[in-house]
Amino acid sequence: LFVDHPLGAGQTVPLDRDQAHYLFGVMRLGPGAVLSLFNGQDGEWDAEVTEAAKRRGTLTCIAQTRPLQEPPDLWLLFAPIKKARTDFIVEKATEMGARRICPVLTEFTNSERVRVDRLQAHAVEAAEQCGGTYVPEVAEPVKLDRLLDGWDPARALMFCDETRIGAADDLPDTLRAPTAILIGPEGGFSPRERDRLRGMDCATGVSLGPRILRADTAAVAALTLWQNAHGD
Ligand code: SAM
Repeated sequence: LFVDHPLGAGQTVPLDRDQAHYLFGVMRLGPGAVLSLFNGQDGEWDAEVTEAAKRRGTLTCIAQTRPLQEPPDLWLLFAPIKKARTDFIVEKATEMGARRICPVLTEFTNSERVRVDRLQAHAVEAAEQCGGTYVPEVAEPVKLDRLLDGWDPARALMFCDETRIGAADDLPDTLRAPTAILIGPEGGFSPRERDRLRGMDCATGVSLGPRILRADTAAVAALTLWQNAHGD
């Protein structure tokens, strides 16, 4: 269970209404039950239910069971697409160990409004589901040009470029963490954006194979490729 509260030996953790309903109403837990908690910072803790009411409750931390497992310094930047597919990207990027997830508005981005709070909640659910101890931060959407204007050249940029189809390169060493993967929108990058990316010393255009993938598929494929080559 994810809680937005510090965890430590003997620390008490208050539960909100939804958490109390889930644990006591749905899961039928009561005082004395032990469950696993994480907050994205203090690792994983066993905690005991010490107060169980209908709309509130308290857990008390017993002992740490796992330290924080911070993923490698990998960001996923993606042009938001339809809501359900954007949700999918955030869920899969969390499972695949992205440390930061950032919606990027490109020239051909054509999406509904991005609700960062909803996406952050999806990241929490995905981290709970995959047994992670870390929750990636979902950043506010930012325009690609603005992002590139302030780009730190110490962070490599792996931009997935379907026009490189046929280029079957291994991922170069330059793409070791810290790195950001960039996926374009359904319409792809504009010629101007592609030229700008190609002109950056820290950016590398990468092919994901001979077919044009949907942006959500491309995000999972790129994360897999990077984790296989450079993940730890
Ligand atoms: N507009 C493009 C077209 O129809 O030719 C397709 C864009 S694709 C649906 C969306 C994004 O996924 C691309 O901008 C790229 O970042 C990534 N992508 C899809 N297939 C890829 C491939 N084979 N190699 C590298 N990137 C790919």
